[in-house]
Parts: sequence; structure tokens; C-alpha cells
Amino acid sequence: MKLPTVQFTKEQERFREEVRAFLQDELSKGTFQTKCDSWLSGCDANFSKLVAEKGWIGMTWPKKYGGGERSSIDRYILTEEFLAFGAPVAAHWFADRQTGPLLLRFGTEEQRNFFLPKIVKGECFFAIGLSEPNSGSDLASVKTRAEKVEGGWVVNGAKTWSSNAQHAHYMVTLVRTEPVSEKKHSGLSQLIIDLNSEGVTISPIRYLTGEHHFNDVFFDNVFVPDEMVVGTLGNGWAQGLAELAYERSGPERILSTFPLLNEAIEELKRQHNLEGLAEASKLVAELWSLRNLSIGVAKVLEEGGEVMVPAALVKSIGTKFEQKVPEVVRLLMDVYPQLQAEQKMNRFLAESILHAPGFTIRGGTSEVLYGIIAKGVIAG
Ligand SMILES: Cc1cc2nc3c(=O)[nH]c(=O)nc-3n(C[C@H](O)[C@H](O)[C@H](O)COP(=O)(O)OP(=O)(O)OC[C@H]3O[C@@H](n4cnc5c(N)ncnc54)[C@H](O)[C@@H]3O)c2cc1C
Repeated sequence: MKLPTVQFTKEQERFREEVRAFLQDELSKGTFQTKCDSWLSGCDANFSKLVAEKGWIGMTWPKKYGGGERSSIDRYILTEEFLAFGAPVAAHWFADRQTGPLLLRFGTEEQRNFFLPKIVKGECFFAIGLSEPNSGSDLASVKTRAEKVEGGWVVNGAKTWSSNAQHAHYMVTLVRTEPVSEKKHSGLSQLIIDLNSEGVTISPIRYLTGEHHFNDVFFDNVFVPDEMVVGTLGNGWAQGLAELAYERSGPERILSTFPLLNEAIEELKRQHNLEGLAEASKLVAELWSLRNLSIGVAKVLEEGGEVMVPAALVKSIGTKFEQKVPEVVRLLMDVYPQLQAEQKMNRFLAESILHAPGFTIRGGTSEVLYGIIAKGVIAG
């Protein structure tokens, strides 16, 4: 596997400084509080609005839809800084990361004109409707079905683990539009469902922490107009796979616990704990290598290349790294994990430990990714 190396230009480094200054300023003003795993658990529509005002949602998309036509490396830099600061970006995350690119690739012109400008303004949030109570890794077995009626489709079924659906306006939902056949991957389609439609019920599934990020979403005879079918009917599987490439290799697969690592290093420096710093530096070296891989994948994606295998590789190693950070940190220093603690270290450690189990599950479990990597290697 060969991935390109990326050298940031002076302009890109200046952009990083601009993002840092913005985040530092908002942090000092108390607009947000740094959190580990903030891209999933830091949902704040007001903060997303501020990001939108800077032109930083949909920043790579065409200008005619409100985007900024900037490079994916600029977006990578922006995302890295959001995660390093633990900023509350979850509200617009899915729409920016995957719904926009999905519509740009497969959507109709009407869908692009309707949704993209709203997403860019931070006024329209999306949830991801893939998993079901009995379909997670094996998505081809989804049972939520859409039946054809005049002018649209009637949807019945349920989705689960739908992150932040309680704040989202719409959900890109994988449904079965044809009966199961021998080819179980065919007959699936993607529909955009308005979550305020009659017949939609969203009910919380609470984290270990008591926080509410996940939901069950039930569809009871929900009408979805024909205009809300994304791409080609029956092609939902292939379109969904394309969407996953955007999901798997970004900096959010290596930096979910970065605020903890950063704070631990600062604390070790204050303590002049050289042994501890030597251990922490191993984590930094690991992070640096992963980051190079992840940026390489972003570059290939930008050039329209195939990234299924490298993205799976980055996600599987990156998420293990994210889990390792709290394990190493708690052995290096006296720290008591506590969610409501005044001390940042205690808070970050608690957030990291409690969120860590999900890192290797969301977006495709490690075992499933190993299968993709192995098949890719065998295929050459
Ligand atoms: C924090 C978090 C956020 C999430 N957000 C969303 C969301 O917004 N929208 C959404 O649709 N889903 C979401 N999910 C769900 C997630 O995508 C699924 O949990 C995941 O795909 C695994 O599915 P499952 O839970 O049904 O487990 P299963 O698929 O039942 O897997 C159970 C176990 O079997 C193993 N296994 C399964 N198949 C294979 C195989 N072929 N080879 C080897 N081992 C296998 C798995 O690795 C796992 O260990 C989220 C999950 C988490 C943890």
C-alpha cells in the first residue's frame, strides 16, 4: 500500500493558526468547554452556527451551493484543530462529513440546491440511519422497508444507535425497496427522511455516563416523497459503501482522546516527570505515524482514488490508539476519573474511559475491518 506524503504549504499553516486563534478565543470566552470525543458527544447548534459564519461547514463544496471550494487538506487541518480543542462540532458533523459528499456524488440537482446551502449555514443537521436492532455489521440484512405508493414511499421499521438523531432534521436512511433476493446486497436504497414527519418516533438510549447521544428511531407508515430518494433505486449498498470511505479515515479516528493526551503531557512537564514523559512520547510517535497515514488517505480521496483498504487500516489501528491513551495515562500519574471534576485531567480521563468501548465499534467494528483489509491484500 502506497500513500502520498503531504507537505503543508505556508498558506495552510496560516489557516491552521487562524482556526486555532478562533477556537482559543471562543474557549476563553466560555463558548465551549473542551471535551474528549467531542465530535460525537459535543452537540451545540449555536457553536455550529459560529463555525458556519466562518465558512467552515461544507468548505470543500462548490461555491454554487454555498461551499468554499477549498481543498480537502484545508478541511483536514480544520478538523484536526476542532478535535485537538475538543470543540462541540457534533451537530453539523455528519452533514459536513458525509451527507454533503453523498449528495454531491449521487444526489439530484434539486436535492443539492435544497440541502447543501442550508447545511453550509449550520441550519440543517443529518443523522445516519444504517444500523438496526438485528443488523449492524451485516447491513445487507436491514429490514426497514419502503413500499411504493403514489408520489413516494411508505416506510416501516426501526433504526438504532442513531447518533444525535434527537437534534437532526433529516436522516439518510438505508431501506429495502425490493424483496430479499439471492443477491442480498441488491434492492436496498437510500432515502432522506424528514425526522419531523408524522409516524417518526425518536427515543433515547443512554450512555454509561447517563448522557444522551444515541437513539432508537421508529418509522410507522412514514410517507417519503419520490424526490427524497438519493441516487439510484436499488443501489443503496454501493452508495452506502462510498459514504463509509469518508467516515473511516479522518482525524476523528485517531484524535478522540487527544485532549487527555495533551493535558497529561502538560501535567508531566509540570511535575518534571521524565520517566512519564518518555512513556507519553511513545504515544506521540505512534500518533504522528497514524496522522501521516490518515492525511495520505485524505489526499488519495481528494484525487478520486480508491481508499477502502487504507481507510479500514487507519480506522482499525487509529481507534485502538485512541483506546490506549487513557490506559497509559492512568498508569503514569495519580488521577481520579470523574465526569464533573473541576480538574481537566480527571474529567478527560473519565470521558475517555467511558466512551472508549465505542471507538472500535462505530463506523464498522475492527473485526469487520480486518476482513476488508485481508480481502484487499489477497486481491492485491
Ligand atoms: C458510539 C457509536 C455511535 C454509533 N452511531 C451510529 C449512527 O449514527 N448510525 C448508525 O446507523 N449506527 C451507529 N452505530 C452503530 C454501529 O455502526 C454498529 O454498532 C456496528 O456497525 C456494529 O454492529 P452491531 O452493534 O449490530 O454488532 P454486530 O454486527 O452484531 O457485531 C457483534 C460482534 O460480532 C463481530 N462480527 C460481526 N460480523 C463479523 C464478521 N463478518 N467477521 C468478524 N466478526 C464479526 C463484530 O466485530 C462484533 O464484535 C454507532 C455505534 C457506536 C458504538
